[in-house]
Amino acid sequence: QNPGVNTILGHPDSLFVLFFTEMWERFSYYGMRALLVLFLVTETAKGGWGWTRADAANLYGWYTGLVYLTPIIGGYIADKFLGSRRAVVLGGFIIAAGHASLLFDTPTMFYVGLSLIVAGTGMFKPNISAIVGQLYTKDNEHLRDSGYTLFYMGVNSGAFFGILLCGYIGEKISWSYGFGLAGIFMLLGAIQFYLGQGIFGNIGLSKDQRAATNTVEVVVEEPAANIVADRIKAIAVFSFFTIFFWFAFEQAGGSMTIFAADYTDRNLVGTAGTTFKIINSLMTVIPTMILSWLLVKLFAGTAKNYLVSNLLLVVCLGTIWALVLWMLQREFALDQSSVPATWFGVLNSFFLVILAPMFSKMWDKYWDPSGPVKFGTGLVLLGIGFAALAYGSSTIPAGAKTASISMVYLILAYFFHTMGELCLSPVGLSYISKLAPPRLLGLMFGLWFLNTAIANKLAGLTGSYIDEISNTYSMSTFFLIFTIIPISAGIVLMLMNKWMAKKMHGIN
Ligand code: GLN
Repeated sequence: QNPGVNTILGHPDSLFVLFFTEMWERFSYYGMRALLVLFLVTETAKGGWGWTRADAANLYGWYTGLVYLTPIIGGYIADKFLGSRRAVVLGGFIIAAGHASLLFDTPTMFYVGLSLIVAGTGMFKPNISAIVGQLYTKDNEHLRDSGYTLFYMGVNSGAFFGILLCGYIGEKISWSYGFGLAGIFMLLGAIQFYLGQGIFGNIGLSKDQRAATNTVEVVVEEPAANIVADRIKAIAVFSFFTIFFWFAFEQAGGSMTIFAADYTDRNLVGTAGTTFKIINSLMTVIPTMILSWLLVKLFAGTAKNYLVSNLLLVVCLGTIWALVLWMLQREFALDQSSVPATWFGVLNSFFLVILAPMFSKMWDKYWDPSGPVKFGTGLVLLGIGFAALAYGSSTIPAGAKTASISMVYLILAYFFHTMGELCLSPVGLSYISKLAPPRLLGLMFGLWFLNTAIANKLAGLTGSYIDEISNTYSMSTFFLIFTIIPISAGIVLMLMNKWMAKKMHGIN
C-alpha cells in the first residue's frame, strides 16, 4: 500500500487525517489552557479558586512546561514498543479522560485531570508530528516543508476554535463546561483517528505490528555514526535557540490578561444555573453523538469524504453551539456586553491560518534560505513584535493600576509574532524529521518539544514577575527586555549558519 497514491492539494491524502486529529487535540489543549489562569484567579463567589496571579502563573508554568516535557518519554515509548499510531490513539484517549476529570471541579480531580493531560500529550504530540514526515519520501520530498506548514495550520485551526468556544463558554457560562467542551472534541478526534488510520498503510506501525502484517521490511539506510551524531547536535542547537522564541512568545499571551483586566464574568447560580446546565448538556451531547455517527458513516469511502465530513463537523458543531448559546442567553438574560479576555489569544492562530499558505509558497518559490537563517529571521520578527508593544505601552506610567493599550499595537504585535512563528515552528518540525535518525524519530521530536517545556516553565517564572517589573520600572521596560532577547538570539544563530551547515551534512 503506497500512501502517496491519492493526493489532495498535491499532498498525500493521509496528511489530512493527521491535520484533523491534531486540530481536535489542539482544540482541547488551547481551549482549556485559555481558561486555566482566569479560572484560578477568579474569586470563589464566581466559581473560580481565588488564587493570586503569581500562584496561578506558577501552576500554569508547571502545567504548560510538563505537557511539553513528557513527549521525550512518549516519543521513546513509541520508538521502542508501541509504534507511533498506537501511541497517538492511546494518548488521545488519556487526554480526553483528563478533561473529563476536570469537570468534577474538586481539587483532587482537577490535579488528576491535569496529570492525565500531561501524560496523554506526551504520547500524542511527538508521535503525530513524526508520522507527518514519514508521508514524504523520495518522490515528494520537496513538499515536506509545505506539508508541515499545512499540518501547522491544523494546529492553529484547533487553537482558534478552542480558544473561542471553550473561552467563551468557560468565562461566560461555567468554567467546568468550558473544560468539558475541550474533552468532547478530544474524544471525537481520537475516535476519528482510530477509525481512519487504515489510510496510513504501514506507516507508524511498531516492529511487531509490521511483522504480524508480513510487510516486506524496507531497509532504511542509517547514515554513518559521526553523521548521526553531528545531526543530533544540529537538532540540539535548533532546539536551544527555540527556547528563546517560545519564552518571549509566551510573555505576550501572559500580559494580555492584564490588558483585558476590565473583563466581567457572570456565573449562573441556583436553579437557573442548574436548568441551564441540563439543557446545555443535552443540547451538546446529543448532536455530538449524532455527528460522530455521521462522521463514521461518511468516512467509509474516500479521503475526500473524510475531509468533507470533518469540515461539516466543524461547521455543524460550531453552529449548534452558537444557536444554543444564543437561545439560552436570551432565556437566561446573560451578560453579553464584554469580549471575553480569552479571545485576545485567538489573534495568533487567526493570523497563522491566514498567513501560512503565503509562507509555504514563499519557501517553495521565492525565498528558501537555510534553516538557521529562517530560525534567526523568526526570532528577529518576534522581537519586532515586542517593540510594537513597548512603544504602545510607553505612555503607561510605572505602577499603573489599570493598563490599557491601543488594539492597534496588540494586533501589530501578534502579526509580527505569527510571521516569526511561521519561520521557525513548522520549519523546525520539518528539520527534525529530516535530521533525526529513523530509529529515534519519536525521541528526537520529544527532544524538540523539550525546548517548549523549558521555555514555558521559564515564562511561568517571569509571568509571576510581570506585576513587579511594571510597578518598579514600567510595562514598556518589560516589553523592551523581550525585544532585545530574541533579536540577539536570532543574530547569533544566523552567525552560526556555516557551522550548522557542516553539522547537517547535506540537509538543507
Ligand atoms: N503552536 C504550536 C503547537 O501547539 C507550538 C508548539 C511548540 O513547539 N511550542 O503545536
